Amino acid sequence: MTAEILDYDEALAAFDPVLGLEVHVELNTRSKMFCGCSTEFGAEPNTQTCPVCLGLPGSLPVVNAKAVESAIRIGLALGCEIAPWCRFARKNYFYPDMTKDFQTSQYDEPIAYNGSVTVEVDGEPYEIAIERAHMEEDAGKLLHVGGATGRIHGAEYSLLDYNRAGVPLIEIVTKPIRGTGAKAPEVARAYVSFLRDMLRSLGVSDVRMEQGSLRCDANLSLMPKGTVELGTRTETKNVNSLRSVADALRYEIRRQAAVLSAGGRVIQETRHWHEDGGYTSPGRNKEQAEDYRYFPEPDLVPIAPSREWVEELRSTLPEMPAVRAKRLQSEWGFTDREFGDVVAGSAIELIEATVAAGATPASARKWWLTELARRANEADVELSELAITPAQVAEVQRLVEAGTVNDQLARQVIDGVLAGEGEPDEVVRARGLAVVSDTGALEAAVDKAIAADPDAAQKVRDGKVQAAGALIGAVMRDMRGQADAAAVRALLLQRLS
Ligand code: ZN
Ligand code: MN
Repeated sequence: MTAEILDYDEALAAFDPVLGLEVHVELNTRSKMFCGCSTEFGAEPNTQTCPVCLGLPGSLPVVNAKAVESAIRIGLALGCEIAPWCRFARKNYFYPDMTKDFQTSQYDEPIAYNGSVTVEVDGEPYEIAIERAHMEEDAGKLLHVGGATGRIHGAEYSLLDYNRAGVPLIEIVTKPIRGTGAKAPEVARAYVSFLRDMLRSLGVSDVRMEQGSLRCDANLSLMPKGTVELGTRTETKNVNSLRSVADALRYEIRRQAAVLSAGGRVIQETRHWHEDGGYTSPGRNKEQAEDYRYFPEPDLVPIAPSREWVEELRSTLPEMPAVRAKRLQSEWGFTDREFGDVVAGSAIELIEATVAAGATPASARKWWLTELARRANEADVELSELAITPAQVAEVQRLVEAGTVNDQLARQVIDGVLAGEGEPDEVVRARGLAVVSDTGALEAAVDKAIAADPDAAQKVRDGKVQAAGALIGAVMRDMRGQADAAAVRALLLQRLS
C-alpha cells in the first residue's frame, strides 16, 4: 500500500516544498446556516432536520445573521478586507451526503479576502498570506455498515445522518506558502495551531479537531531547487490532529520527491491520510473549479455588511493569543522555558486568574505546575477540572506567606479543598493545620529531641551544623509538621551553642 519514499533530507536537498492549507471551521451558532435547525453535536441521527437542510423542493433558505457576524470577525482577525457586497454560489457536484446535489458556498465573491498572519517556528517568524475566508454549509454524514474498517470498501450498505447538513462553515484558504524549506510541516502545524487558538479566543467555534469542528486539508507541491514554477499539487484529507498535519506533509514531501526523482509525474488528486500506518493513499482525481459549474445562488439575497457594522465588530476582537502570550510572559517575568512549561501545561488562564486573585506569578506557577499538575495527572483530569479555584490557590499561598501554614501543611489544605471541605481557611481550622507559633510548645519539643538524640546534639555543639537536620526532622515529626522549620532550626542552634 505504501509508495516509494525518499529520505527527508535528500528530498529537501533537491526540492522546495510549497504549501497550501484549507481549513474548514464549524461555527458554534445555535442554528444552521440557512434554517432554524439545531446544530447540537451528538443527537440521534436525523432528528435535527427540516425541508431546507434536507433540500426538499420548494423550500427556501434564509441566512443566519450570527454566522455572518462570526465570518466577519474571523476575517478581521485574519487581517482580511471585508467585502462590501458578496453573494453565495451553488457548487454543483454529486454529493451522496447532500440531497440538493449542490453545496451553498461562495465562489468568486468571498466575504473576506487578502489577509495575512504570522506564525513562529523555532523562534523564526513565517508570514502566511490568506487568500480568502468564505461562508458555506456542511454536508451530512455517511455511516458505512458491514465492513471491517467503517470505510465504504467492503460495506454492505450506508446510512445517512443529515443532522450536520447545513451547519455553518467558514473555509479559510491560504495563498501558496513558499520559502519554508525543511520547516514546511512545522509551519503548517503552527498555522493550524494558531487558527485553533485564534478561533477559540474569538468564541466562534468549539475547534475540536477530533470531533471535526476544525478540519484541515493540506496541499503540497514540490519545485526542483532553483526553479520558480509551481509543481503539481496533491490535497491530503482527513488530517484531524495537529500532529497529523505535520506528519502527512512530511510523508507527501518524501513521496512526491521519490516520484519526481524517478522521472515520474505527480498526479493532481486528493489523498487520504492513514494515521495508523503513517502514509497517504490516492483518493479521487481532483476536479477543476469549472467542473463544479458554480453560479450565483438565486434563492439568497446578497450580503452587504455596512462599514459601521464591520467597524463595530472589529472593536469586539479580543487580544490575539500570540500577542497575549507575549504580554503575559513579560508581565510575569518568566523565562522562555518557564513560560513554555506553562503553555505545555495548559495553565495560562489558571495562572492569570490566580495572579489576579493576589498571588505572585512565581507562586501561582509553582502550585499549578507541580502540586496541582500532579493531582490532575493522578485523577486523569484536566488541570482546569480540579475542584479548586484560582482564588483558592491564591488564598493557600497567602496563608503560606502569612506563616499560618508551611508548604507541607499547605498541601494538606489543598487536600481538604479538593475533598470539598470548604475554603482554605476553613480547612485550616477544621483540620487544625496551622503552624504552632506557641514558643513554649516549640521549646518543649526541641528539648525532647535533644534529649532523645544526644549524639546528634553533641555533633552540633562541636560545630557540625549539618547534624541539626536529624534533630529538626524529629521536632517536625513530633509536632506533626505544624512547626515553622526555620524557627525550629534557629531555636535548636541557640539551645546548642
Ligand atoms: Zn433545517
Ligand atoms: Mn469547502
